[in-house]
Amino acid sequence: MESPDVNVQAGRIVFGVDSVLQLPHEIARLAAKRVLLISTPQQKDHLEMLQALLGESAAAVFSGAAMHTPVEVTAEAMKLVAENDIDCLVAIGGGSTIGLSKAIALRTDLPQIAVATTYAGSEMTPILGQTEGGVKTTLRDQKVLPEIVIYDVRLTLTLPPDISGTSGINAIAHAVEALYAENKNPETSSMAEEGIAKLARALPTIATDPQNIDARTEALAGASLCGRCLANVGMALHHKLCHTLGGSFDLPHAATHAAVLPHATAYNAEADPLAMQQIAQALGAGSAPLGLFELGHAVNARMALRDLGLAESDLDRAADLAVQNPYWNPRPVERVAIRDLLHMAWSGNPPA
Ligand code: NAD
Repeated sequence: MESPDVNVQAGRIVFGVDSVLQLPHEIARLAAKRVLLISTPQQKDHLEMLQALLGESAAAVFSGAAMHTPVEVTAEAMKLVAENDIDCLVAIGGGSTIGLSKAIALRTDLPQIAVATTYAGSEMTPILGQTEGGVKTTLRDQKVLPEIVIYDVRLTLTLPPDISGTSGINAIAHAVEALYAENKNPETSSMAEEGIAKLARALPTIATDPQNIDARTEALAGASLCGRCLANVGMALHHKLCHTLGGSFDLPHAATHAAVLPHATAYNAEADPLAMQQIAQALGAGSAPLGLFELGHAVNARMALRDLGLAESDLDRAADLAVQNPYWNPRPVERVAIRDLLHMAWSGNPPA
């Protein structure tokens, strides 16, 4: 779908329990003095915690980040940047919050520190999706790649179990498509296999025991590897379908990934048997598509697009949109077969 750079990753990664306490030190490393703190309204408590940690260097706070990075929200935050002479951006949250930080960095080239609290992986990529007039467009630019990423396992303990499961499968989706990517290489394939294995081990535990710090540690490490896959190789059919369903039908991002992934994988199964073997082995399953379907159930994800708000009458338009603007995929993208795939994902049946 995109033509990625090679070996892209954040300059510095700080990983551990309570590693967010390193934030003042990391800001000093960037020689920054006036920080804009960014979150969603739901993570105001995390934002206030950082404000207390940073004291005077927290020059401004913005807790209005929203899903899919609407340009109007970015414009609002940009006013704070200008009014407060900001020299560094600190985002605490998932892909929505980090997306806003990236959108500001694109416009200002300010350095960013991403404190990632979901498994979506945006903090590891030079990719930014923005929405204007209801249309979401995606770009790649080195300016949007965060300079520093902080992974504090303790901050992920509050990620609700249902979001943890689907967010983790969102991460696995990057790795699945990396294993059959046109421009994969041995390094991205190793990261992908290890990322899937870590998440497949950790996510079912998190679903029943969200406070389990070992499982949370393994999931966050796996998500980071999967995010690096997304940064370094091109994505294909699965991401195109999820982009279409999220952008044109307003389906929730991570949950859509969980419902579509087994079926998109089944669609490509015969075209890349080696990738299927690698995915199945990493999942500890006999079959890649079925293993992904069972993992979705194990984390209590809603595995039918009809339960996520897609009407059966939308399937034709979704299939039309998904075959527009040709892109690389291991198996040719054919309208009739894509309509069948979408119907399977809509009904929530096991993958064919
Ligand atoms: P999100 O950022 O929208 O977060 C979901 C909700 O969970 C939000 O309300 C958030 O505040 C809350 N939350 C996050 N972490 C929490 C925590 N630890 N405790 C309590 N609540 C928490 O969800 P997401 O799936 O991380 O991101 C989705 C967005 O990111 C989409 O717009 C997607 O397109 C984008 N994305 C971009 C990239 C990229 O490389 N550019 C990669 C993946 C996703």
